[in-house]
Amino acid sequence: MFAYNETPSSSVRLNLVAQRTHAIQQSAICEMTRLSEAKQAINLGEGLPDFAPDALIQAQVMEALQSDSLLHQQQNTWGRASLREALATWYGQRYQLTLDPDKHITATVGASEGLYVALAAVTNPGDEIIVLEPFFESYKTIFHLLEVTPVYITLPFPTFELDVEQVKAVLTPRTKALLLNTPNNPTGSVLSLETLTALAQLAQQHQFYIISDEVYSELTYDGHAHTPMATLEGMDSWAITTSSVSKNYSATGWRVGWVIANATVTDAIRKVHDVTTAGTNGYFQEATARVLALPPSYYDGLRADYHHRRDAMEALLRALGFNPIRPQGAYYFWTDTEPLRHLGHDDLSVVKGLIEQYGISNVPGRCFFRANAAEAGVSTHYLRWCFAKKLSTLHTAMDWVQASNGK
Ligand code: PMP
Repeated sequence: MFAYNETPSSSVRLNLVAQRTHAIQQSAICEMTRLSEAKQAINLGEGLPDFAPDALIQAQVMEALQSDSLLHQQQNTWGRASLREALATWYGQRYQLTLDPDKHITATVGASEGLYVALAAVTNPGDEIIVLEPFFESYKTIFHLLEVTPVYITLPFPTFELDVEQVKAVLTPRTKALLLNTPNNPTGSVLSLETLTALAQLAQQHQFYIISDEVYSELTYDGHAHTPMATLEGMDSWAITTSSVSKNYSATGWRVGWVIANATVTDAIRKVHDVTTAGTNGYFQEATARVLALPPSYYDGLRADYHHRRDAMEALLRALGFNPIRPQGAYYFWTDTEPLRHLGHDDLSVVKGLIEQYGISNVPGRCFFRANAAEAGVSTHYLRWCFAKKLSTLHTAMDWVQASNGK
């Protein structure tokens, strides 16, 4: 028998794993998920739906599976032609954006890969990337791996309004890009057209990219609407858009995403993409091509379902003592910790207390801030609540809260 040798016991060589991995911290989301599972709590933390996609979407997978047995083989690394063509049609019809499938679109393994290859394609070590805080936690690991310098602008709670002057104030000759995410994870805010337009003008004036993470593009509420950065005048040269099927089609497991950029940037993106993943699963690329052809009524249904979930989460938060700000988009509420401060002195201990007292878990604010936020004087005393959950999950959570409140 050949036994797999665990980590060598000798400490002679201290550099057994790369230095660049040392500073990557394990996410508190994983720790909370483990704790939540151990206590059999209802997990309102993880940003994943706990339900299957719409039957219409599942049907496209079955059709894709039966469509072409050569989908077992690796596809064009740029992405299957049918998918890139479907994306060009979708952006054209939905957002009046004209794209060439061969020059501007690359299919990736989710937006996760899209973000990585986009940043790898345009940054050099030491370049500065402006990022609005709080932000999706993967960003900081990508910055670290690529050795780029994040320049943080902390948005004020609870309005999350961005004054474009703040961006102007941090521009330097090393500014390479602004990384934007609207609709936003974790705050649920949607940047106004006015702000986006001002950012677009600034980007062109000072020649930096806007890397626009638009994975929640179709999830907007109460009359708020998403505008892709690439559709603003002059931004075809400066916008790099990442998106995926994960949120808009409730299909986080398909791992299909894409990056849209000008031809020169796309060329560079494809060089990195070819050696990192060389493409995502052919069958799910084909399913995505078909899903993109769903009628506009699909998106109305999606938003209506999420409205109900948002209402249920709002009721739950009110039962816990919050007066929450309603998200304008995405599928998260972002609150402070105040009404639950009796459970703990900071965001992490409040989440642990929430699991103990109510049997529900969520994500501590610190996950969405720079690593040394406290030293920088930035508070992380916030909580992210995900409402991409079955109504029955949210109702059970409500029952548990009411039962605990009644004790
Ligand atoms: N960006 C944001 C803001 C996200 O919330 C996520 C997923 N949580 C991603 C990107 C990655 O999405 P994907 O599943 O397409 O890799």
